[in-house]
Amino acid sequence: MSDLLASLNPEQLAAVTLPPQHALILAGAGSGKTRVLTTRIAWLISTGQVSPYGVLAVTFTNKAAREMLSRLSAMLPIHLGNTARGMWIGTFHGLCNRLLRANYREAGLPSTFQILDSADQLSAIKRLLKNLNVDEERFPPREIAAFINAHKEQGLRAAQAEAYDDYTRRRVELYAEYDAQCQREGVADFAELLLRAYELMCRNEPLRRHYQERFRHILVDEFQDTNRLQYAWLKLLAGHDGKTPPGDGACLFAVGDDDQSIYAFRGAEVGNMRDLEREFQIANVIRLEQNYRSHGNILDAANALIKNNRGRLGKNLWTEAGAGEPIRVFEGLSDFDEARFIVDEVRELVRDGFQRQQLALLYRSNAQSRVLEHQLFTAGVPYRVHGGLRFFDRQEIKHALAYLRLIANSDDDTAFTRVVNFPTRGIGSRSLETLQEEAHRANSSLYNAAAGLSGKAGAAVGNFIRLIETLRSETVGLPLPEVIEHLIEKSGLRQHYLSEKEGGERLENLDELVNAATSFLRDEDGTLANPDEADPLASFLAHASLEAGEHQAGEGQDAVQLMTVHAAKGLEFDAVFITGLEQGLFPHENSASERDGLEEERRLMYVAVTRARARLYLTHAQTRMLHGQTRFCVPSLFLEELPEELLRPVGSRAAYATMTPSGREQATGGLARGAAASWNGGQKDVGGFHIGQNVQHSKFGLGVIVSAEGYGSDTRVQVNFGVQGMKLLDLKYAKLTAA
Ligand code: ATP
Ligand code: MG
Repeated sequence: MSDLLASLNPEQLAAVTLPPQHALILAGAGSGKTRVLTTRIAWLISTGQVSPYGVLAVTFTNKAAREMLSRLSAMLPIHLGNTARGMWIGTFHGLCNRLLRANYREAGLPSTFQILDSADQLSAIKRLLKNLNVDEERFPPREIAAFINAHKEQGLRAAQAEAYDDYTRRRVELYAEYDAQCQREGVADFAELLLRAYELMCRNEPLRRHYQERFRHILVDEFQDTNRLQYAWLKLLAGHDGKTPPGDGACLFAVGDDDQSIYAFRGAEVGNMRDLEREFQIANVIRLEQNYRSHGNILDAANALIKNNRGRLGKNLWTEAGAGEPIRVFEGLSDFDEARFIVDEVRELVRDGFQRQQLALLYRSNAQSRVLEHQLFTAGVPYRVHGGLRFFDRQEIKHALAYLRLIANSDDDTAFTRVVNFPTRGIGSRSLETLQEEAHRANSSLYNAAAGLSGKAGAAVGNFIRLIETLRSETVGLPLPEVIEHLIEKSGLRQHYLSEKEGGERLENLDELVNAATSFLRDEDGTLANPDEADPLASFLAHASLEAGEHQAGEGQDAVQLMTVHAAKGLEFDAVFITGLEQGLFPHENSASERDGLEEERRLMYVAVTRARARLYLTHAQTRMLHGQTRFCVPSLFLEELPEELLRPVGSRAAYATMTPSGREQATGGLARGAAASWNGGQKDVGGFHIGQNVQHSKFGLGVIVSAEGYGSDTRVQVNFGVQGMKLLDLKYAKLTAA
């Protein structure tokens, strides 16, 4: 233990060994917050101030919780090491689940209550609407789900929800009906776990007293991302309930970084930090300012970036490590070029002695992983997709491929079973069983056996067969990407995911599948690359199965780490690649319409930059495929916000990047600056277009609007047409169309 304390700096040591009291540690990335929190638990236990039984610690992900447990076991004296396993360390959801299971009767739940994930919740709502004869057009299930969850996250039941108009009143009624249905069926959605645990503690005094007396120390990592209800739950558990005499409650020890708050879209409130300081009367907020993770240049870049956000709590971060290497910036000609560069670089780094698991490829959107995975796979580099599935293993991709497989071969029973009732078309497991028996009897495929099925089941399965037949006949002769696009629409997959609360990401993946098919058919200069032109569908399916095969690294194998920036929170790597730094991708286009959207994206970028220890790569591409078409991209505004002297252009496009800023601006027509202007001003209208928009011109082809002058019908726009160059066009005559 003393060894552990010896390695801490004075501020960290003070925080770890604070006397029993409430504390808030507000400190930047890599300053040792998680380390301090874990060491404090070990210190409290090994000095006998609390038993492992009296500690409750909240982390943000299951992975972080596991890591904390294993670090703790290693820190504790041997005779206590094993007790770490039974400690209450976990996520909010995990801990509330544990509380409810231990007290299911008092919570009014069956002992075996099931948890609804967001897809389950949506189908429960659909069922409810159907039973109540509610029009789904007027009350879209996805919106009802969001309405219910937002209320639960605020701690509000239907009875407490405010409604000033008939429409909202109806939604509140549906909220009440939904809760009643869940209660009847003995199930709880995610938000319910928290609210139910909170209400149980509020209502049941003996139980509340029990837990309040039990947990003497409550420690929370990543406090900046807690929502209202989570904070209320913590307050209650810590005895801050207006009933417990001061001094009797637990000590609350919270660590966080307002600059890393990246879950506002799920109701997180940075304001909780200020409330905590006030309500728990924390006189001295502890600040840790030394960063132990990153080299100087990386830290300077992070600091410069985050300065652009307003309303920060403010802090300084410095490091004793030297400046280190400059930050490498690579501009690819295309997303493929970008991925190729990254994989080449990864191999180089491994040759130089970097471990693969110390290399992270980060992206803003899940769909971006496909191109990277493809390059890694082709190059034979072991990789692992973290906090999610590999592209070809994702549910929506497997569903779309199953339709494709049925179009190619109707005897494919696996594909048939996967999508016969997805999206749901009223074909139950009983009907499927009958169909299977029929197929067995006739010794035929399920598809062919369908004709022998009668009654209601026969009709429903018959409709599905007709759908596949129609898909097949409508797509004869179409290029593969169009076949896929068509089936995504016609099968109802797009509609299905559109109505799912978090279906946006799945839709992005489906679009990415269209891109995959396009790239499969032609290599980058547009010539056919597919060796088996006669049957592109069959060879694409083979390609998809191969890429979904055994290529993810096995457990324990040294592998490159792929993940979204959100999933990288709290982690660190020797080298980090932040990819797809383009307007609309990172910052993500969805954020443009949200309040504080750009600032949240910038915090996300700050999180990404600060994951790197020694080497950081920022990569972007001039063109990227979208819906199977090549689009021009505008470099991310975040690249502009980093001090030029910290950056070093690398790779084939180095010439561009070594230009002086004015030279660069001339060459690109102020590409990034124009984008920044349009971003800050929202989608500012320039004669019916906006800056950054892709447009089509009859002579020059596809381009991107980089700047504009004039007004209304007199607007002139500057358009970058790639190899055709930069053109200044009068909108009156140019006949541009949106692409
Ligand atoms: P984040 O904001 O990203 O969650 P953090 O503040 O939680 O970061 P840690 O992950 O705890 O930071 O620490 C960052 C790195 O610095 C870790 O590798 C940790 O072991 C190391 N570290 C922290 N304090 C010290 C110290 N006093 N001496 C040496 N290394 C340290
Ligand atoms: Mg941390």
